[in-house]
Amino acid sequence: MPSSPVPRLRADVSGLPRYTPGRVAPSDLVDKLSSNENPFAPLPSVIAALHGELERVNRYPDAANGALVTRLSGRLGVPPEHVVPGAGSLGVTADLLCAAVGEGDEVLFAWRSFEAYPRLVWAAGATPVQIPLRDERHDLDAMADALTERTRLVVVCNPNNPTGTAVRRGELERFLDRVPGDVPVVLDEAYREFVDDRDVPDGIALQRDRPNVVVLRTFSKAYGLARLRVGYAVAHPPVADALRACAVPFGVNGLAQAAALASLDAEPELLHRVETLVAERARVTRGLRAAGWSVPDSQANFVWLRLGTRTAAFADACLAAGVMVRPFGEEGVRITVGTPEQNDRLLKIAGDLRA
Ligand code: PMP
Repeated sequence: MPSSPVPRLRADVSGLPRYTPGRVAPSDLVDKLSSNENPFAPLPSVIAALHGELERVNRYPDAANGALVTRLSGRLGVPPEHVVPGAGSLGVTADLLCAAVGEGDEVLFAWRSFEAYPRLVWAAGATPVQIPLRDERHDLDAMADALTERTRLVVVCNPNNPTGTAVRRGELERFLDRVPGDVPVVLDEAYREFVDDRDVPDGIALQRDRPNVVVLRTFSKAYGLARLRVGYAVAHPPVADALRACAVPFGVNGLAQAAALASLDAEPELLHRVETLVAERARVTRGLRAAGWSVPDSQANFVWLRLGTRTAAFADACLAAGVMVRPFGEEGVRITVGTPEQNDRLLKIAGDLRA
């Protein structure tokens, strides 16, 4: 047989770093505090909406996400044309990169931040420019200093994954004032609903008179729909139109649309759960500090321990005791806030391990 030619792909793709998701829990008995998921089971009303939708899986979903767009637009007080749902906020991020960047362009963001950013940027053919955190927080001055003519997109993850720290209104506004108006700035607010510091700005309010600012939100965390993959951008028309142009058609499936709508109907109940998690975050932070661990103030549904070379040993010891946390190299571990019982178990382990 003649040797067949190797399929020709983009030359820069073969070396791309792979996204490393949290490990799959080895059993249901393990408390999975490694993926920033919502620990509470879906509400019966959401499950009922999903059942209704199951009868229609032979049909394509609404490609325009009409009902969801109308609903979000009313809820957020923004025009419907500014709302663009996507397959999780990750899907929207990929669409935005597709719309905004290409070879030779730079995408600026803090590091460490959300794991997926570098990979998505490389996949879009652009170059990540990663500005180290300072004291576990975005160093917005250093980020502004790193802007170049090639910067085509900036991402501010607020609160930041995995450190949980949040940038405040004044510093963010000063930073946005330094970014040229033709450079889109993404405020990734995947954890917005967990913010209880009033000085942390609501991105939707901030972007109203800043046409280059794009806010990303998701149903994965506070609303507990991570497996269904639905998030959205709020953006001004040129960006929103470009997002719609670049999105894979039918990217948000019908189950996801129905569950997102049912979740908006059940918002008071879901936000009550968020309050529980925020109170638990404070308790977990206090408990860890009391045991000697150093924990930055978190505004998200997780806390961060910078453990350096002890990272893997800490994560392994937690797993051996039945709690899965998320190690990051030799930097630290991120621990998702779980149910009160799960958090009790985590605090017991961390207390036994001792700082
Ligand atoms: N942004 C940040 C900062 C995240 O931590 C995550 C999830 N880990 C996402 C986006 C992705 O969320 P989604 O499930 O909506 O794609």
